[in-house]
Amino acid sequence: IYILGIETSCDETAASVVKNGKEIVSNVVASQIMSQKRFGGVVPEIASRHHVEQITIVIEEALAVAGLTPKELDAVAVTEGPGLIGALLIGINAAKAFAFANGLPIIGVHHIAGHIYANMLMQPMEFPLLAIIVSGGHTELVLMEEHGAFTLIGETRDDAAGEAYDKVARVLGLPYPGGPQIDKLAAESDGQVEFPRAWLEPDSYDFSFSGLKSSVINYKHNLEQRGGKVNPAHIAAGFQASVVEVLTTKALKAAKEFQVKQVIAAGGVAANKGLRASLEEAFHQEEIPFYVPPISLCTDNAAMIAAAGSAMFLDGIRGNLAMNGKPGMPLVSWKSEK
Ligand code: ATP
Ligand code: MG
Ligand code: FE
Repeated sequence: IYILGIETSCDETAASVVKNGKEIVSNVVASQIMSQKRFGGVVPEIASRHHVEQITIVIEEALAVAGLTPKELDAVAVTEGPGLIGALLIGINAAKAFAFANGLPIIGVHHIAGHIYANMLMQPMEFPLLAIIVSGGHTELVLMEEHGAFTLIGETRDDAAGEAYDKVARVLGLPYPGGPQIDKLAAESDGQVEFPRAWLEPDSYDFSFSGLKSSVINYKHNLEQRGGKVNPAHIAAGFQASVVEVLTTKALKAAKEFQVKQVIAAGGVAANKGLRASLEEAFHQEEIPFYVPPISLCTDNAAMIAAAGSAMFLDGIRGNLAMNGKPGMPLVSWKSEK
């Protein structure tokens, strides 16, 4: 089974062909990072314009690399939401046109289901499974009893982890996107500032990162007021230590409570070296199988959308040409859609 995946929810225009839900045949990503850098973030209008310019090229490239004609595909899977509405619509309309022209079914994929299913491209999923989702817009612990069944057991009450990384990076004067910059500074740092941990209520699997962000801003401000010299590496390391400790501790507790067979990490922040090392060590000690995809499959891509689309296809899920972009789409089980 060959599925063409299309992803345009934010600032990556991506298309990919995945075979049997697990084998990447092609994976093309056109990033807009260079252009978004000038504005210190993603400007929706500019993102949409880039998608329009890139989408056809990217889809053609994905097919060319795969060496397949459209007729050899079984379905088109496209990110239906959540994301920027103008950006989503470009991928969705391209998918609709492609599906209609080639007589293929179309499947709408939740972007976060995609991040989770990036893991299927690496190893089979084993249930019950705990997914640690840490991305630009989401920080969630999701329990899965079977394919397509998502139960939210905790989420951020304010900023997402990636959002916190990007905001703190901006405070430190680092270029967009800030996550990789902080990661690098933290790894090279020879010390760290102590920042608080947001544990919330003892039995809660929720997260909060806005207090930590404020602590960083206040620390820097107060130090500058006193004429002190700011050490960005120490701040980056201290900030990252707080994020990583809370994420690792809560994920480990959840994995034990729900007695999962496998833990996976997903989303752009799962590319973080410090977080990967911490999770790997914690789960290794408890002898709970833990996996995180290579960095290129953690950040936005279309192979993950094709992978989730493949699992949906096998479950008999089909969309139709009335599909619309869903900017605030909730992660609901696709089992209930049938
Ligand atoms: P969402 O998936 O929630 O809709 P998004 O698609 O914009 O949001 P992703 O592309 O999954 O988010 O991830 C981008 C985020 O990951 C950015 O906030 C970026 O700073 C962060 N990020 C990328 N690499 C790293 C890293 N090495 N360390 C920390 N954060 C990182
Ligand atoms: Mg992105
Ligand atoms: Fe994403």
